[in-house]
Amino acid sequence: MLEKVKEGAEIHRQVRSYIREWIQPGMKFTDICQRIEDKIRELTGFDEKDPLKRGIAFPTGVSVNNCAAHWTPNPGDNTVLEYDDVCKIDFGVHIDGWIIDSAFTYTSNPKFDPLLEIAKEATYTGIKAAGSDAILGEIGSDIQEVIEAAEIELDGKTYPLKSIGDICGHQIDRFKIHAGKAVPNIKFEEYTERMLPGEFYAIETFPSTGEGHVKPGPDCSHYMLNYKEGYKDKFLAKNEKKLLETIEKDRGTLAFCLRWLENKKKTKFLRKLIKSNVVVSYPPLYDIRGSYVAQFEHTIHIGENKVEILSKGEDY
Ligand code: MN
Ligand code: MN
Repeated sequence: MLEKVKEGAEIHRQVRSYIREWIQPGMKFTDICQRIEDKIRELTGFDEKDPLKRGIAFPTGVSVNNCAAHWTPNPGDNTVLEYDDVCKIDFGVHIDGWIIDSAFTYTSNPKFDPLLEIAKEATYTGIKAAGSDAILGEIGSDIQEVIEAAEIELDGKTYPLKSIGDICGHQIDRFKIHAGKAVPNIKFEEYTERMLPGEFYAIETFPSTGEGHVKPGPDCSHYMLNYKEGYKDKFLAKNEKKLLETIEKDRGTLAFCLRWLENKKKTKFLRKLIKSNVVVSYPPLYDIRGSYVAQFEHTIHIGENKVEILSKGEDY
């Protein structure tokens, strides 16, 4: 199991160093995501005939500026990466269901570097507070403290920073990106659950020049089978059942996006699966208009006496 996540982590590092070779303003997000996802398939040795064995763990997030998470282009989207964009590149690799979830923020304009540095520092603060027996609610206060003690200057104006509290780090389990426990990004005293040895977590923090709260926006792209409440034994029409079987076969309980459903008909049946609560939608999450959000994320393993930062590389 640890061997598998480590293989996934090495592939994650290789894919992100590959991204740094070519990413630049002017590129379409659709092309950026395509290249990233092709590379993950290539390096994992993704096999169409055995689609759950190894490959992409979830849709490639390229959420920009005040969008904090869960945005990837839908089919036909022609949006282009701009020079002034603060883009969170969040992608995942899995080997036999063991997921590496890790993200960095990309920007061409160096004026945002201080914001990126604080995001990195906050994520490492969360990691430092993590460990066997660590109380999850307390990790959130450490993260919030680092972020909210800072302010940044953009174009001569000073902005206080807020830690987005509505998005959390999360426990990861095999084929389950959001397993039982969460890692808050703000002080959360009532949450006294602890980390335990053997568990995997994604630690991800989101400093923002906005309000520190996110709201779901339009153009949802991310979906996942409702494994938390159960998605089986529901009454479904024939075509919906067929789509459910396709999702189970191709993705199981891993997340997917509309770009990967090759036709419009499927999108229509997907809507029905969402209505029946078989599939859950994860819309893009936005802080207030005009704000900027950065993110860094690592997957860690909790050992008896140490925490291993699996996705750590020379870049972050
Ligand atoms: Mn992520
Ligand atoms: Mn995550």
